Amino acid sequence: MDLIIEGLSKTYGNGVKALDNVSLHIPTGMFGLLGPNGAGKSTLMRILATLQEADSGTAKLGDIDVLKDKDAVRRTLGYLPQEFGVYPKVGAYEMLDHIALLKGVTAKGERKDLVEALLQRVNLWDQRKRKLSGFSGGMKQRFGIAQCLIGQPKLIIVDEPTAGLDPGERNRFYNLLTEIGENVVVILSTHIVQDVRELCSNMAIINKGKVLYAGPPEESLRQIQGKVWEKRIAKSELEGYATGGKMISNRLVAGVPVIHLLSDERPAEGFTTVEPGLEDVFFGAISRSNAQAAAQ
Ligand code: ADP
Repeated sequence: MDLIIEGLSKTYGNGVKALDNVSLHIPTGMFGLLGPNGAGKSTLMRILATLQEADSGTAKLGDIDVLKDKDAVRRTLGYLPQEFGVYPKVGAYEMLDHIALLKGVTAKGERKDLVEALLQRVNLWDQRKRKLSGFSGGMKQRFGIAQCLIGQPKLIIVDEPTAGLDPGERNRFYNLLTEIGENVVVILSTHIVQDVRELCSNMAIINKGKVLYAGPPEESLRQIQGKVWEKRIAKSELEGYATGGKMISNRLVAGVPVIHLLSDERPAEGFTTVEPGLEDVFFGAISRSNAQAAAQ
């Protein structure tokens, strides 16, 4: 079941155009929605999760009209928002049992089996009696996945799930997501390139409400092959390159600035081509679109 979004737009009351004619074809599997803060990711996620209205456009999940048939979407949706509410002083088992009941799993035996299976699946069985308010960030996110799996959703939306997780917790969360991403549409909204690189077979890059790229990550890498140039520079040179419009990124390696430029030809003496990474794709796309917007 694919999710097909066409011409989706949303402008807030204050005039901010959060989505500007967004069209995306999202197949089964893990789909990364990559964009900097303020790009419009949460707005898109909330519209797809039926929590917010779009101004125009359509979204279809198989036969379901996502924007009109909200009840049908809700029955088949698992949503893990950026802020998963408050974490009450209630044990994990008790809370999950309560959510399952609210989601319509009324038969006691069935609910017990479900809650037990979910807690095992997200590796929280040993913590089932512990209060949610005492959970670490990673445990909270895994609990969030358990609750969003109730009802066997066909569409799962996770909004910025790895922000604030330490590397170990992030890895555990990645493994869990890859397991569930096989037969459903999972949209992973993130500003962290590593999330997409490790998990997603398809992705879109958005900035200022516009889609800058949509397709497999490998294809985006192929498009800039041979065009990413690297040089170690003096700190004093940094500003000149930063305002040149071609700079993708700069980082420090052992205290020395190393910059990447995107250019069809060697930009200057001393630059060598490097194998592009997804960071180059992402920061390249964002800086080009920001430069275009500034020139308008
Ligand atoms: P992201 O999730 O990528 O950080 P958002 O969808 O939260 O992006 O925000 C997109 C843009 O819309 C930002 O400029 C943000 O400030 C603005 N925005 C988000 N929510 C509202 C709102 N309720 N009212 C007005 N502007 C908003």
